[in-house]
Amino acid sequence: MRLLLHSDYIIKTLLNEPPGPVPPFAERGHQTWILASALQDIFRQVAREGGGANAGKILDPWITQVSLLPLSGVDLTQALAAGGPHFPERVAALAVEKFQLDGVVTFNPEPFSALNITALHPRDILETKSGSPPPVTAVPLLDLPASFHEWLPEVEHALAEVTRSGRYILGPQVERLEKHLAAFCQSPFAVGVSSGTDALLISLMAAGIQPGDEVITTPFTFFATVGSIARMGAVPVMVDIDPVTCNMDPGRLEAALTRKTRALLPIHLYGQCADMDPVLDLARQRNLVVIEDAAQAIGADYKGRRAGSMGDYGCFSFFPTKNLGGLGDGGLVTTNSQENYERVKILRVHGSEPKYYHQHIGGNFRLDALQAAAVLAKSKYLEGWSQKRRDHAARYNESFAQAGLTSQLGLPEEVFPRHVYNQYVIRVPGGKRDALRAFLAKRGVGGEIYYPLPLHLQKCFLHLGYKAGAFPVSEQAAAEVLALPVSPEITPRQQDYVVENIQAFFKDA
Ligand SMILES: *Cc1c(COP(=O)(O)O)cnc(C)c1O
Repeated sequence: MRLLLHSDYIIKTLLNEPPGPVPPFAERGHQTWILASALQDIFRQVAREGGGANAGKILDPWITQVSLLPLSGVDLTQALAAGGPHFPERVAALAVEKFQLDGVVTFNPEPFSALNITALHPRDILETKSGSPPPVTAVPLLDLPASFHEWLPEVEHALAEVTRSGRYILGPQVERLEKHLAAFCQSPFAVGVSSGTDALLISLMAAGIQPGDEVITTPFTFFATVGSIARMGAVPVMVDIDPVTCNMDPGRLEAALTRKTRALLPIHLYGQCADMDPVLDLARQRNLVVIEDAAQAIGADYKGRRAGSMGDYGCFSFFPTKNLGGLGDGGLVTTNSQENYERVKILRVHGSEPKYYHQHIGGNFRLDALQAAAVLAKSKYLEGWSQKRRDHAARYNESFAQAGLTSQLGLPEEVFPRHVYNQYVIRVPGGKRDALRAFLAKRGVGGEIYYPLPLHLQKCFLHLGYKAGAFPVSEQAAAEVLALPVSPEITPRQQDYVVENIQAFFKDA
């Protein structure tokens, strides 16, 4: 459960000799929070009631084990304006509601009963056996509040700092994020942009793609990959995918080359890199630009190299469902040459260089300082999150094998370590995928199809002249793929619930 520790509980526990531990809650799998706005009062009372000059020493090691819940002045004013007695309890109740916590821990549950908030006496929690937590009833595909305890206080702080600084567009926050992520992606340069889609578009612009030029990609990707090529007036040329990785099959590139081919645009779908060596070899031989769509693969590796560092440009997205999600839209371009870097930076501000003089037509592709600050604050967790995604994927693989489901399902394979599992995607053959998804949805398990209609069959691309059957591997994948919940926060019991329900589906079917 997500629990707010009320001041009375904290003060009493801290004044025990030695101070009472927080871990009994953590050991039982609960997340615990303290209201940041209550800290001064807690300090004062601990000092007064026995802590004396040691209050700070008593408080500090304890506070580091819980997360601080930031409330704003407006929150406090709202709680005050609601009127009535028990102001601290009303503030706590407001916080529980706003941050989607499960309840308050207090020695005095009484005042909370009128506030419609679950108030638990510590013994209510400590006396429930650790072996009998409440049953799992839902496993959402994405559960953002489940990771709040890690990043929320720092992100809210970073947003407040930007707000106070008065610098909202580009500026030092964006530069810090660019430096940090360039190093993380093992790329010499990075440029923050307005979205992953704009990262693709600006890379194509910087590469000098002209109307009529051909750019080779796959039909099995998010729309933005192919959409960006088309928006340049260039021609998206598609090749089919590898049936195991769902990434570009490099064996098909040679046949797709023409005199007009200018660039290759592989996607690192689901968090695993495409087979880049043959792509890079061909690009070198034919003098082609390579743009990596790494929107789903930040931190993925291919033969010791990082996603986004291998081609001329790497394109990333901070869309909230990506492994490093922001609080809205944002993106990044990595590049390995100073010249490309300068070009992308100029195109980001309408091609203006010097200011108000334009040699090229760019666009408004700027990243907000607020977005950059949020992403930067979250970025220190990225490695830990990637590792958890990998662990969860391994656990699914084992559980599906143990449940005897490997003849009914295709499991994702890590062909090029390391896969960072932005999505854990199974294959459900035999036309059963949609029924399984509906069955799981009824039982509270989120599942999504990335992507149901390959791009060569989208209405807006029919003029390209591809027919159904043109890319059989992509078309089969579109009919079979199902992404299951694999967020860093998912628990073993939630994973078991997913596997058990899939087992139940096949037993009934
Ligand atoms: C998310 C995504 C994009 C686009 O990123 P946005 O930030 O949503 O514009 C492009 N390509 C792929 C493969 C993606 O998954």
